[in-house]
Amino acid sequence: MPTPDEAMISFSDVGKSFGDNHVLRELDLTVAAGERVSIIGPSGSGKTTILRLLMTLESPDTGLIEVGGKPLWDRREGARFDAKEQAQVRRRIGMVFQHFNLFPHMAVLDNVTLSPVQVLGMSHDEAEQRAVELLQLVGLDKHMSHKPGQLSGGQQQRVAIARALAMRPDVMLFDEVTSALDPELIGEVLAVIRDLAHSTAMTMLLVTHEMRFAEEISDRVLMFDSGSVIESGPPSQLLQDPQHERTQRFLKAVL
Ligand code: ADP
Repeated sequence: MPTPDEAMISFSDVGKSFGDNHVLRELDLTVAAGERVSIIGPSGSGKTTILRLLMTLESPDTGLIEVGGKPLWDRREGARFDAKEQAQVRRRIGMVFQHFNLFPHMAVLDNVTLSPVQVLGMSHDEAEQRAVELLQLVGLDKHMSHKPGQLSGGQQQRVAIARALAMRPDVMLFDEVTSALDPELIGEVLAVIRDLAHSTAMTMLLVTHEMRFAEEISDRVLMFDSGSVIESGPPSQLLQDPQHERTQRFLKAVL
């Protein structure tokens, strides 16, 4: 486990295209162990692609992505690929998606125990004990036997957070986790993330449109446009006194 100030996530010269669409361009990005970083910027600028590369749901065309000092993707010339090594590195990361992505046919409890049993080889009893603790943490222990469809969007998203935490990740990725929710359900999800940020040392990378929330929990905010970081700084500076004209325009439109 890296100590604080050591890079937990590092992108070096990473490029990613979908056909002619150059989504990421020579991207360099570092997140220190324990740091909370929010990525903001216009739709289509490549923010989600960064998270999906970390989850190995997409592969980069060029460059190096390391997690905890170990290569997750190495697309430099002559690099070799080892799927087993990649899976080990990837396992340190959990992600919460915009649309929850729970298994609809499985009870809440089973959604949370499935991966620890199947992927980590945890005993069913241990996985269940841990799942109950996590469902208590997100305030849903009374709904363990319900199916996701019986819950509100905010409750489903809190189950998704518990499910990601059940894998004991060192890094949590949050991809616009409130943008599919009715406004009155947003607060309960943000409260869970806020509690996590205050009570754990987990590294967090968040893509968000919730500027006030980003300001409150982030150590650093990155303004992203057309596949590059165009401005980065502490939230008080970047959100209150942006230097780049593109950031100023973006914030004026969303705030
Ligand atoms: P953001 O999160 O900033 O809205 P994304 O990373 O989702 O941006 O997308 C960046 C660009 O890449 C968009 O133009 C999007 O249409 C395109 N894109 C993302 N994923 C795919 C994919 N799997 N296939 C083709 N194009 C994609």
